[in-house]
Amino acid sequence: MVMVRLEAVSKHFANKAAVERVSVEIADGEFFTMVGPSGCGKTTLLRIVAGLERPDQGDVWFGDRRMTDAAPAARELGMVFQNYALYPHLSVLENLAFGLRVRHAPRAEVSARVREVADLLELDGLLDQRPKQLSGGQRQRVALGRAIMRRPRLLLMDEPLSNLDALLRERMRIELRRFHDRLGITTIYVTHDQREATSMSDRLMVMNAGRIEQIGAPEEVLRQPRTAFSATFVGQPPMNVWPASMEVDRGGNARVTDGADTSWTLPGSWPGDSDGPVRVLIGARPHEIDVATGAQGAHLTATVELVERGPGDVTLLHCRHLDHRLIVASRSELGWPAAGTVVGLSLPPERIHLFDGETGSRLLPIHKGPWRGRAQPPQLVEGPVPSPEVTSSNV
Ligand code: ATP
Repeated sequence: MVMVRLEAVSKHFANKAAVERVSVEIADGEFFTMVGPSGCGKTTLLRIVAGLERPDQGDVWFGDRRMTDAAPAARELGMVFQNYALYPHLSVLENLAFGLRVRHAPRAEVSARVREVADLLELDGLLDQRPKQLSGGQRQRVALGRAIMRRPRLLLMDEPLSNLDALLRERMRIELRRFHDRLGITTIYVTHDQREATSMSDRLMVMNAGRIEQIGAPEEVLRQPRTAFSATFVGQPPMNVWPASMEVDRGGNARVTDGADTSWTLPGSWPGDSDGPVRVLIGARPHEIDVATGAQGAHLTATVELVERGPGDVTLLHCRHLDHRLIVASRSELGWPAAGTVVGLSLPPERIHLFDGETGSRLLPIHKGPWRGRAQPPQLVEGPVPSPEVTSSNV
């Protein structure tokens, strides 16, 4: 069931678009994350859902109720902000109870709810404390507790973990997800941290400059980024993306070259352009590039500039290939190459992600039907991305 639907929502501030024609449906019970760099419009969009901003165009629906003009209080939602917004002069208990008390809820109901929420979020021992006596993580739990006191059907969270140190943030990520799974409240979460987004969410919406770059499950966004932006924003270390040119012959065979000695013949049949090569971007995640053990099988040569210990037993080689910086995740039998070492890198063509050099949209081969040799520009991807031949199964 669709819980929240945004329909071509736009919002401008002083003639500058903060959000442009965003349409998305969020399912009942979903943990949905809006992720993107600072200023991409995620907070504005969340405030539009909350009723704190009105869109210039478009509509907000909760189920089949049009909520575009409804006041925040009428939306029955809970909100958690980055700064927690707790009342400093009130105890934890009073902070939790505040929202119900101002609505003159019966005393017995208020204390039953406080007990329930304190129990759920393990706040029992803290009820008499003031916010300033609490740690960051505890304050965060109180803020969350306050947001769910009225049993909202929708929970909105704006960068709720960004004031916490790295270790606590990691722990709270797991807690938040477990909490969501226990209560099943539809949650819209805003963050600029792609790790937070990929580790907690059922689906994420990657945003850039007020627009949607991609919506999908974390796995899908990582495996099949729809745009070069999405490819470089989601995933750690980020995907390597560098310019190249592609030429397609009349048989639909595509060759890609980045100006160095090698060219790749891509699998599949590609839409061609009779006017000659087109500008594309090659994409490859650090673990999709291997360090070649001999000259054979090396598609690229690169100079190692820096070696970094990555997660697990992975070594990250920061290399330079032509004018481009590449990061290669190596399970290094090679050991720890010195800066300045020239290495051969292997990037089999089936692992290459390809993007339009002008628009950044993912390019895909034609799947069905014989190639007819008609000249047409490379196909831009619209709608759900089919499983492409060009990415390999080990992506
Ligand atoms: P951040 O992570 O830094 O909070 P964001 O992705 O949440 O960024 P928004 O806060 O939604 O981005 O802002 C989007 C754009 O709209 C920015 O350019 C911002 O400067 C502008 N903007 C947001 N709110 C206002 C406002 N009240 N008045 C004027 N401009 C605004």
